[in-house]
Formats: sequence, C-alpha cells, structure tokens
Amino acid sequence: FDDRDGWIWFDGKLVPWREANVHILTHAMHYASSVFEGQRAYNGVIFRLNDHSERLRRSASILGFDLPWSAEQISDACNEVLKANGLTDAYVRPIAWRGSEQMGVSAQKTKPHLAIAAWEWGKYFDPSIAERGIRLDISPWRRPAPYTAPTQSKAAGLYMICTMAKHAAEDRGYNDALMFDWRGQVAEATGANAFFIRDNKLYTPTPDCFLNGITRRTVMGLAEKRGIEVIERAIWPEELESFQQFFLTGSAAEVTFVQSAGPWNFEVGELSRQLSRDYDDLVNGRAVNN
Ligand code: PMP
Repeated sequence: FDDRDGWIWFDGKLVPWREANVHILTHAMHYASSVFEGQRAYNGVIFRLNDHSERLRRSASILGFDLPWSAEQISDACNEVLKANGLTDAYVRPIAWRGSEQMGVSAQKTKPHLAIAAWEWGKYFDPSIAERGIRLDISPWRRPAPYTAPTQSKAAGLYMICTMAKHAAEDRGYNDALMFDWRGQVAEATGANAFFIRDNKLYTPTPDCFLNGITRRTVMGLAEKRGIEVIERAIWPEELESFQQFFLTGSAAEVTFVQSAGPWNFEVGELSRQLSRDYDDLVNGRAVNN
C-alpha cells in the first residue's frame, strides 16, 4: 500500500505518498499511542466530516495527547488531500500519533503528529455477497470493559483484537465476526456497529464499551424519521434467535446486511433495504424519500 503515486498530508504539508514515513522508534509503533478516523467522500463531499475531525481530537485527548490542529483545520486538510489526489469518491484516513521524540512507556515529551491519506475504496464487503447478506462468525475475543481500555477512543490499540477476530473468522470461511463484550452481551462487528429488527422495530446495543458510530447515529435518525421505533439497550445472545433481520453500520461498511451470525440466521428484509437506500440517498446528497 506504500508504493504508489499520490499525496499524503503530513504535519501540515503534502508529501509524496512514498515519502510519508515515520521513524522506527515512533512511540505509537511500540506502545499503540495512535488514534485514527475513517470517512467516505461521495461526489466530492466527505460525509459528516466535522464529526469525524472532532472525534479524532477527542480520541487523542482520551489517550492523553491533545492535537494542535482544530477540527476545522483537520477537516480542511482532509479536503486538501482529496483534491491533491484528484478524488471525489474515496475513503479518507486521518491518523494521529505520538512521535519518536522519546522512548519508553512514559511519553510526556513526545510530539503529536497527524497524517491524512485518501484512496479509492469500493464497498467494504464484496457486493455479490453483500446483497445476500454477509456471514458472521462469533469472535472468541470480547470487547473490553471501559475500565480496561479507552473504549470511547478510536484508538489503534483496540483494533488488535479486531484484526485477530477478523482473521479467525476469515480462516473459517466467514466474512467477519460478531463480538460480544466482557459481560457476554452482544457488542458489534470488528469494524461496524450492529442493528437488529424484530416486528418492524430496530434494536441496537447500548454503546457503553464500543464506539457510538457516526453511521450508527445517522441510521437511528433515518429510522426515527420513518417513524420506526429505535430501542437501545443491552442485548444478550439468547435474544438473537428472535430477531428477523440484522445489519451492520460503519463509515466504510455503510449499511451491510447480515445473513447469519454463528448459529443464528436472518433475512434481508424490506426495512433493512429501506434504511440502506435512505443512507445511500443521504450520503449522496439526495433527498430521502418518505
Ligand atoms: N465500531 C468499530 C470497531 C469501528 O471500527 C467502526 C468504524 N469506525 C464503527 C464501529 C462504526 O463507526 P462509524 O460509523 O463512526 O464509522
């Protein structure tokens, strides 16, 4: 992914893609002191850009480093990267980290750094599979408690278990994995939030130990606009067999239908399709038809 043409915004300047490098003694490499974002541009407009820029700043401050760039400056830089790379429909990846100014667990003297890359990224899941719904394995890894890890930060360190869960699922022939939390409650997939439908009502777990995704909140708003009741509460695995539909939400995953999760099967139903269309309309700047 590093050997290609293009421009990456790096601490305030655009640098050639191949030269956007960091030193091996970067604190983030050793101690996971990095946070990132992921957002999509549709027709040249990055969806809910300011929310992503603000979350990046918040994620860093939860880890104890404040970014010297305002949300507005970060947003401007994201737009600059799109433009410099001639992209209109793309995925944008800002990342902030503690640098190589100091080595050791204590990192008080490190400087915060920020880089932003963007590239074309089609659907998160193969569209031919996505239409029928993806198949989820049940992850052996559980989302940690909020007193065990900074669960409200989009911190790179939290993705260690996501990559392990995703690889374990892929090795067993699944597309992704559903993760439970430390209590055993249903949490989310490895990079997207979970929604269930039963009798035309939407159910989603309370995001008290995983990200309250920007797409999640967007889809809850779209459902409410359609008069659909949205219920946010603890969901235990025992309840999964009673749900008829299941989909995931995320900036990269958008609205992704789920066909099965472990032993539980779901249908790709009308309400899931409707919310997926509503989301597409919204991100593409079209009026959502009621
Ligand atoms: N959970 C995880 C673990 C994620 O990586 C993401 C993607 N950022 C989400 C949820 C969904 O967040 P959002 O809708 O803000 O992209």
